[in-house]
This record gives sequence, structure tokens and C-alpha cells, in this order.
Amino acid sequence: GSYDSRRSTRIAGTNDTMSAQILDGRAISAEIRSDIKKQVDGLLAVGGRRPGLAVVLVGENPASQVYVRNKQKACAEVGFHSELHALDADVSAKDLLALIDDLNARESIDGILVQLPLPAHMDEEAIIERILPTKDVDGFHPYNVGRLVLRMPLLRPCTPKGVMTMLGRTGRSLSGLDAVIIGQSNIVGRPMALELLAARCTITVCHSRTKDLAEKARNADILVAAVGRPEFVPGDWVKQGAIVIDVGINRTEDGKLVGDVDFAGASRRASWITPVPGGVGPMTIATLLENTLQAAELHSSQQA
Ligand code: NAD
Repeated sequence: GSYDSRRSTRIAGTNDTMSAQILDGRAISAEIRSDIKKQVDGLLAVGGRRPGLAVVLVGENPASQVYVRNKQKACAEVGFHSELHALDADVSAKDLLALIDDLNARESIDGILVQLPLPAHMDEEAIIERILPTKDVDGFHPYNVGRLVLRMPLLRPCTPKGVMTMLGRTGRSLSGLDAVIIGQSNIVGRPMALELLAARCTITVCHSRTKDLAEKARNADILVAAVGRPEFVPGDWVKQGAIVIDVGINRTEDGKLVGDVDFAGASRRASWITPVPGGVGPMTIATLLENTLQAAELHSSQQA
């Protein structure tokens, strides 16, 4: 079922029973996808080309297989061309680079996504760097990361960009807020910090060597958890009225999906919170579609 983004509301003067409003990633991403579909229909109506995404999957990581399937399904629903290049785990770097060169050169392909992680014998950086920056719809190429650092972004990493879209839906001005990000990965934590800095937050990036983590978290107006540990952030780390963004996707032993935040505890104090599942996850895929459409626009203006 879908969430009602206003299913719980604040009651004035009853701070201790206050419960957070839900930032409903399913609903917001559905709006984005339907808007993209309209734009694709519009493109086709005037004789334009379908945006095209090529997904490269190396090996048989089960989680990666699920992600790739979901991305392809999302592409089909909005009318994108999508193709999967599934390669054996022992494919040579040379063959993989040759595939990327081929996809870089193809006019029907606007976005190239190499699903991470790659098998251990491969140099991820070298593979990502081979992707044409204007086709790098994951936003992981050093060119795109550098543009984000310099506040002149081109293609932006999907998960943090999707989080910014969700933050926009709170209606709150982000300027001057204290944002604390737990996690510093290249995929989530770091680009998240750069996005929030560009939005004029004061940022604190925490990681496994950070001391006094609870104290730092308690200062956050925006608390982003991207750790990868089930319910790592207890409710009492959340400042009253904070916005809590839970990026984590963890499967417990009994097969349940949980985030990096104790949702029940945190929702008693937060003003807004993202659920898991149904929060950041669906936004990541919708943002990948946005990026692919953006790449298609870049390529058609280059060809014009
Ligand atoms: P990662 O393992 O690369 O990074 C984890 C980060 O957490 C590291 O920077 C590490 O320093 C930090 N960390 C680990 N232990 C810590 C501790 N005790 N205290 C403070 N910091 C600590 O993971 P990632 O790729 O950034 O992913 C994080 C989580 O987000 C995972 O659960 C992943 O599945 C999920 N994820 C979700 C989406 C989505 O679309 N919702 C996308 C990407 C990743």
C-alpha cells in the first residue's frame, strides 16, 4: 500500500506526543515518473528520439540483479529504451572498457550505468572514468563529482539528488540549517554533504572514526543516516523537530527491511522522516530516470 504523506500531523502544544510527518518516497517518485512519461510522450509526438539507458551488470550479485531489474522496469514504464549488458564475473577489464567505448559512441544511448560493486579484480575508478561524462547518469565520474564540488553540477549522483527533491517537499528553507551526515561513501555520504553545502547548510560529515557521534547527531536540523547498519541511529539522537533522512537498506535475519534509523523512536521527535522501505529507495530510481532524460536533452542539444 502507499503512504499518506499527511497521515500524522503535529498537534500544537503537545510536544511529547508529537509524531513526524512522513516523506513518502513512493508517492513523490510516482509523480516524478508520471511527469517524465509525459515528457517522453511529448518528445515522441514531435518526432524526437526515445531516451536510452544501457545498464552494465558484471557477475551475479543477487542485490545488484534486483536493482538492475527495478531500474529497467522503471525505464520501460516511462517509455525509455533500455538495454542490459550482463557480463560474466571473470570478464576482462579490456572487454568491459571496449563495451563502454561502444556505448559511448552510440547515438541511441544517453545514459550508461555500470552497476556497482564490480568484482574485486576490477578497477572501479578506471571503469567509471571511461564513461563519457554526459552519459554518466549515476554522476560518479570525477568530472561530474568535480562539477558538484564547484557548485556547477551537471549529472548529479542519484541518491543524494533524490534526497534533495524530498527535502524540497517539506517546504522548509534549508539555508543555514545544521546538517549532519553519517557516512562518507562516494555514492551517498560525500555527495550528500556537497548537495547540502550547495543548499547553504552547515555540514558535518561523520564516519567510523568520528568521536562523540551522538552529540553531533543531536545538533542536526537535518540528520542523514547512510551507514548500512540496522537501526544504528536511536530515537534519542534525534533533535526535536529535525528532518530525518534514512538512506540505509538493511535486511534483518527474519527477512525484514529496515533502515539505519530506529523509525519508531525517531518519529516521536522528528518533524519529517523517511520510511524504509518506501522512502529514499524509490527516489533513487526516479532520479536515475530524471538524469537519463537530462542526458538525452544534453545530447540532442549537442546534435542540433
Ligand atoms: P558504505 O559501506 O560504503 O559506507 C558506510 C559509511 O558508514 C562509511 O563512510 C563508514 O565510515 C560509515 N560508518 C560505518 N560504521 C560507522 C559507525 N559505527 N559510526 C559512524 N559511521 C560509520 O555504504 P553506502 O554505500 O554509503 O550505503 C549506506 C547504506 O545506504 C547501506 O545500507 C546501503 O544499502 C544504503 N543505500 C541505499 C540507497 C538507496 O537508494 N536508498 C542507495 C545506496 C545505498
